[in-house]
Amino acid sequence: MEKEPDVGWGCSKANTAIIHPGHEEEPDVHPLRARLCKEGNTLWRQWARELDIPVKWPGELMVFFDGEEKTAKKYIKLAKLNKIPGVRVVYRDELLQMDSSIGPSALGAIYAPTAGMISPFEAVIAVVENAVDNGVRLLTEANVREVKVVDKRVRGVETTRGFIEADIIINAAGLYSDKVSRMAGVNSGFTVRPRRGEYFLFDENVKVKPKKILHTTPTPITKGVYAITTVHGNLMIGPTAEDLPIDAKDESSTSEKGLEYLWKESEKLLKELPPRTKVIRTFAGLRPEPPEGHWRIEAHDDPWGFVNAAGIRSPGFASAPAIAYYVLNLIKDKYSVNLAKKKRWNPYRSDIVRVKGRPLQEVDELIRKNPEYGEIVCCCKTVSKAEVVKAIERMKKIGVKTVTIDGIKFRTRAGLGMCQGSFCRWRVALLISQYVGVSLHEVVVKNDTYGIGEVKVLLNQ
Ligand SMILES: Cc1cc2nc3c(=O)[nH]c(=O)nc-3n(C[C@H](O)[C@H](O)[C@H](O)COP(=O)(O)OP(=O)(O)OC[C@H]3O[C@@H](n4cnc5c(N)ncnc54)[C@H](O)[C@@H]3O)c2cc1C
Repeated sequence: MEKEPDVGWGCSKANTAIIHPGHEEEPDVHPLRARLCKEGNTLWRQWARELDIPVKWPGELMVFFDGEEKTAKKYIKLAKLNKIPGVRVVYRDELLQMDSSIGPSALGAIYAPTAGMISPFEAVIAVVENAVDNGVRLLTEANVREVKVVDKRVRGVETTRGFIEADIIINAAGLYSDKVSRMAGVNSGFTVRPRRGEYFLFDENVKVKPKKILHTTPTPITKGVYAITTVHGNLMIGPTAEDLPIDAKDESSTSEKGLEYLWKESEKLLKELPPRTKVIRTFAGLRPEPPEGHWRIEAHDDPWGFVNAAGIRSPGFASAPAIAYYVLNLIKDKYSVNLAKKKRWNPYRSDIVRVKGRPLQEVDELIRKNPEYGEIVCCCKTVSKAEVVKAIERMKKIGVKTVTIDGIKFRTRAGLGMCQGSFCRWRVALLISQYVGVSLHEVVVKNDTYGIGEVKVLLNQ
């Protein structure tokens, strides 16, 4: 059940996308985070391969400046405790050899070779496509409003798409997992606070492209400010860490203060910054921050069948596959249910065949087979009509009710480039209108209509 029109629009969409190695977690304070982060880092290697998810494994450098060396070295001790391989200190000369984009005042860094980076929204889409392929039914625009409990057992959920019967309910509602938990009468005092993280995203064609995942030394509330080259080749800087009021769970704005702070921190971290005119987007994500940073992953007796995977703050993305296995084992152990692996379980899923990055000969071949590969819809990211059409088909296949322009963007990358959709958005809208069979003025961007075509009809609505 997903309340939004599409999957992966919660905090799994807007984050730093680091597959952390696990050397930043204190095993005596957060044992589950320490264990599942390390396991998740290993599992993502397999999942990304099997599910064709864009990922890279450049390793990370936690850069320290004057007065920070002692704090940074704490992470070598944690790495030993958590058995994270290869973590060591590197000093200036080696540091600059590893990544020449680092600023001149850096004294050294903690190097963690197993750190990776993923495309988070594409990862969620890939996992869901594979799940549906293996028999899962997805319901989008299904906002869970009530958890039905009879005789201390869960019976199902009341949603905006009707009542769904269930013997076991897993609450993985991110920022709203406290609310869903309360619906089941569990952990009434448990709250999930939004902690905002803001970012700068630069155009692909800037000179500054860190080779490694760079970040400043962590503080008690954040893993530091990162400067990374995303899996799609953009320089990205962020995040900030700012606690917002408890009810600000839909806040998506950025702030002048936050962005100025990021700029300053990255001036220290990097040798040079591209001009601000090269920023193509600023955005913010909200971390689902549980009390004391403790994830709530529990299978409850009262009500029987209610499982929390709640308050999954960072490193939640890195740990996600391991959290899934952990929840599976909780269900097996706690409820003594016999879960059998499907005989015809398919672990594989392929990504949409893309024009970008392909040798011209292969593109030629694609166009010969399907001329729609020759019609470029998004010039910034070189996305063809064939890819947009494929994305629409895939959305329908997993059960997306409303095909949105944003849904196409996250599947094809049309609109993620320099012009941020100024050029291609209306073309994508036209294709949605044509292939889904909705009027142009009804095409939705995210949660609202785009408003092109016969817009006068909107006046009468
Ligand atoms: C700024 C920032 C930086 C981060 N950086 C990293 C990082 O580098 N590495 C890392 O490992 N982690 C990182 N994280 C943390 C990571 O993003 C989260 O731990 C992870 O995405 C949590 O996933 P989730 O599935 O629990 O929540 P979500 O992705 O938010 O999913 C919850 C879903 O439930 C849906 N939902 C909510 N309420 C209801 C309801 N009532 N009915 C139906 N559906 C509902 C939502 O729409 C949403 O799609 C970062 C987070 C932020 C915000």
